[in-house]
Amino acid sequence: MNKLNYNDELWDEIPPYAFMALGRRGREQISLRECFIPSCNSTDEDKLHPIKKEIETKEIPDKNVQIKKVKYLIHCDECSNDFHLVFEQYINNNIQNEDVEGMDIVMEKVFATDSEDKENYGEIGFIQQK
Ligand SMILES: [Zn+2]
Repeated sequence: MNKLNYNDELWDEIPPYAFMALGRRGREQISLRECFIPSCNSTDEDKLHPIKKEIETKEIPDKNVQIKKVKYLIHCDECSNDFHLVFEQYINNNIQNEDVEGMDIVMEKVFATDSEDKENYGEIGFIQQK
């Protein structure tokens, strides 16, 4: 992978942590600065480089919900592979709501897939909304 393709400034917008609910024991904080390829799992963040960002949106008209997927393609120097870090936002799109904001993220979860979206490495956790 050519270093010119790295977009390390994308880290500024990628949350550093996700959270996993642990029932009554609260929640566990999971770093998103690691390689989610199961055979690697490197936690050396200096070796991880975002390459690009893609956004997909999908409407669910019956429920006034919009699903927004923000995918980051990330290269890992440790295993020389790429993977996707995917943030899936469920946005409440209720048009009866006259609030100017109108759109609220009701839930955001994060999972990882391979670079071709063929293999899902599983859900990592959810993102705490501010
Ligand atoms: Zn790796």
